[in-house]
Amino acid sequence: MPSVRTRFAPSPTGFLHVGSARTALCNWAYARRHAGRFILRIEDTDRERSTRESEAAIVDGLTWLGIDWDEGPVRQSERRERHDAVVEELLKTGAAYRCRCTAEEIEERKRQTIAAGGKWTYDGRCRDLGLDESCGPHTVRLRLPEEGRLEWDDLVFGASGQDVREIGDRIIRRSDGYPLYHLAVVVDDLDMNISHVLRGADHHANTPFQIAIYRALDRKPPLFAHVPLIVGAGGKKLSKRSDPVSVQEYRQGGYLPEALANWLVRIGWSHGDQEIFSAEEIASLFDLESVNRASGQADPAKLLSLNLHYIKTLPRTDLIERLQPFLAAETGRRAEVTPALEALVDLLRERSRNLVEMARQARFLLLDEIPYDAKAARKHLRREIEPALQDLHDRLAGLDAWTADTLEAAFEEVRAGHGDLPMGKLAQPVRVAITGTAVSPGIFDTLALLGQRRAVGRIAEAIHFMRHG
Ligand code: GLU
Repeated sequence: MPSVRTRFAPSPTGFLHVGSARTALCNWAYARRHAGRFILRIEDTDRERSTRESEAAIVDGLTWLGIDWDEGPVRQSERRERHDAVVEELLKTGAAYRCRCTAEEIEERKRQTIAAGGKWTYDGRCRDLGLDESCGPHTVRLRLPEEGRLEWDDLVFGASGQDVREIGDRIIRRSDGYPLYHLAVVVDDLDMNISHVLRGADHHANTPFQIAIYRALDRKPPLFAHVPLIVGAGGKKLSKRSDPVSVQEYRQGGYLPEALANWLVRIGWSHGDQEIFSAEEIASLFDLESVNRASGQADPAKLLSLNLHYIKTLPRTDLIERLQPFLAAETGRRAEVTPALEALVDLLRERSRNLVEMARQARFLLLDEIPYDAKAARKHLRREIEPALQDLHDRLAGLDAWTADTLEAAFEEVRAGHGDLPMGKLAQPVRVAITGTAVSPGIFDTLALLGQRRAVGRIAEAIHFMRHG
């Protein structure tokens, strides 16, 4: 087998879509598995829609996902002279010809053909005119053979192909001199020695014409593998409105890149019944034989369970590092990594669905002033609990040892002294007092982490709040 060279060729016209990220991941994994090389090529030939911000967002998203490339990013727009040279070569050999039909003329003939019940492909009006450069404004079209099929053995879809008559002589260079996507892709894949083109199934229909270009250049096409698209609930296309569709959105939502990559690689691909794949496993196990032909369903519940898994199992130092931007969003600064923060992260990782939630629940330890959640305060900081809370405050202030055990003993004494107060009736007000919210890890652990001085101070403030609002 020749050495494997794959590429990811995004058009920088927006964010990094999860479907594209999945394509990138497959290309990366395939190259890694076969000790090949993975190339990043930015297909920025659409000058109106391509932006440098989008390119940066794509690079950023890939890097975050742990996808690295061996060559590139190469910008397609910087290879225009080369594309042009190939068009000239095709003109010289007669494999392409100049066409001076205008878009309006084509539109009119197309309309008539369709109105007469036919299917439109270019009707070949300029095909044999032998037009040269002096013909005025013109496009360049590829001359397809009169008959035959353009076929390939797709590594996912199997035997594929299309009759040349259904394709027609398509444009490869526009009248403004810019090459069309099909031409640029083929030239770049050839020049970059791409061995395997792995891309979304939406490109399956583009492949016959691209094969025609390879033939016209008398070059062997690479192998093609079209990966079925990702669909949302009910088999429908992912919609921006109801599903997060960009890698950035998942990142901001507090998903770990390990979870997202694991989720993406498993959509439409399996390896026995294994669900958890580390980056190393993705890179050593991903194969095309086990890619399904059917569209892959994106199941958000699966992503959540993977996120829970990685949040629980990531080494603590890594997890805290990943948490830092989210902590900064809550507190305005990078958190100092103290033993208390480490212990809190260990408690929170057992119960957090994402890093946004985790950071929110870590806020009480990092901030000196914690705002009360209005609803929690209304529900739990009520006057009738004030005597018990005051009693607890005094006992906690007098504790010589501040541990989960001594704290629990103090709570028991207070409950017994106030008519067998149920634990929740005491714990919830304390929770709101020290965290500002009605959710936290176990109350004794939480108090222990916060420390005696801060905890006692916050309970005193809550009592003040109860009295004076
Ligand atoms: N630039 C194309 C896209 O973003 C990909 C072309 C290809 O993979 O061949 O859809």
